[in-house]
Amino acid sequence: MKYESTRGGCPQQNFEQVLLTGLAPDGGLYVPTELPHFSLEEIASWRELSYPDLAMKVITPFIGDEIPTADLRNIIEDSYAAFNHPEVAALESLGNEEYVLELFHGPTLAFKDFALQVLGRLLDYVLSKRDQRVVILGATSGDTGSAALEGCRHSDRVDIFILHPHNRVSDVQRKQMTTVTGNNVFNLAVEGNFDDCQRIVKAAFADQSFLEEDRQLVAVNSINWARILMQIVYYFSASLRLGGPDRKVSFSVPTGNFGDIYAGYLAKKMGLPIDQLIVATNKNDILHRFIANNDYSVSELAKTHSPSMDILVSSNFERFLFDVFDREGAAVADLMAKFGKELRSVSDAHWQRVSAIFDSAAIDDETTCAVIASVNAESGMLLDPHSAIGVEAARRCRRDPSVPMVTLATAHPAKFGDAITAAGLASPELPAHLTDLFDREEHFSVVANDLHAVTDYVKAHARR
Ligand SMILES: *Cc1c(COP(=O)(O)O)cnc(C)c1O
Repeated sequence: MKYESTRGGCPQQNFEQVLLTGLAPDGGLYVPTELPHFSLEEIASWRELSYPDLAMKVITPFIGDEIPTADLRNIIEDSYAAFNHPEVAALESLGNEEYVLELFHGPTLAFKDFALQVLGRLLDYVLSKRDQRVVILGATSGDTGSAALEGCRHSDRVDIFILHPHNRVSDVQRKQMTTVTGNNVFNLAVEGNFDDCQRIVKAAFADQSFLEEDRQLVAVNSINWARILMQIVYYFSASLRLGGPDRKVSFSVPTGNFGDIYAGYLAKKMGLPIDQLIVATNKNDILHRFIANNDYSVSELAKTHSPSMDILVSSNFERFLFDVFDREGAAVADLMAKFGKELRSVSDAHWQRVSAIFDSAAIDDETTCAVIASVNAESGMLLDPHSAIGVEAARRCRRDPSVPMVTLATAHPAKFGDAITAAGLASPELPAHLTDLFDREEHFSVVANDLHAVTDYVKAHARR
């Protein structure tokens, strides 16, 4: 399988090359040049497969013969053996054909484990074959950091540096990052905010001359194609358990950087019968405004109970816009230079393509807490604030009550205890493997809000 940049300004790459990088050199994101398409008969034949076997069916066409099947299977099986639930992605019913797909049974209690457990192992495999080492550099305001550290801490050939804004992440989130141990794992607390961390990471990727000659930086946020790829699988898994592909299923997805919902869009294009795809946002609602009203104006960042969705501009949206603009890289490059700034809408014809595919809703904090409380009262289920936004958006946007509606539950409620107590409920307990989290020793270094402070640190600590 070949991959191309959404901005059309650089050569095509194979899976391995795309895995080992971040943005394309022209500033775009890599997407497959064509998608595999599965027939209904073929999808139906997957009904009895285990989660790892299903994953193999879905992802193999994207990797082609670059990784031998037996090796890929080992990586996938090993990755999902790290999950705490026999189904890996657990499907729970709320009644009335409403379902919640629990994606938080991985080591760090958020859906990001689905991709990052695989990514760490894939990197190690590919790098061993190439006899190469890389440096992962990423910024996090929340769940990505811990999932990436947990996914890569056994990777011999990876040194991983994760930046977080000093004193500005929640205690659970910080502890989940800073208690990960390994001689290749480095947490940097930057004396700035999340945007400062992101700016530093971006600048380091743009000029990697601080690294030793045979090293390169690899991204672990959802601009990395491998993350999107692994998230396509659970849409198939949920559908097959609800009577698909003979029957359509709808999905509501708590959305930040548009990675998770984009994976659902790809599943649909690959042949999975999906009815509605609902983009659920919090007060940071640029995607909702665009989908509902063709209004793509960037506003101020609001801090909410669902911090993993506190994002002003969603990086993966560009991957979808590439399709909307007929896969013309030059048109996307031109759009991205202005979009959200002097240009705040697209032509009516382009916008109708967007609104034909997605529904959307924006849910405020007060409603989020009310939903956490009411769902708990109705069913006993405790939703985290991100998942509660998904459930409420599903209820607002649902067109056909006979079509199963699946909300992706993106995090375990114990990660966001403040929102749960704000909803008037008792703060939930962490699962067994994390009950001693607050007693574990933390490791992190505080660094100045400065590019060179960070690159000097990386240079000094990356293993030879
Ligand atoms: C990352 C994250 C999201 C947003 O996912 P995107 O792929 O960025 O849209 C939603 N909820 C939780 C809990 C997350 O960690």
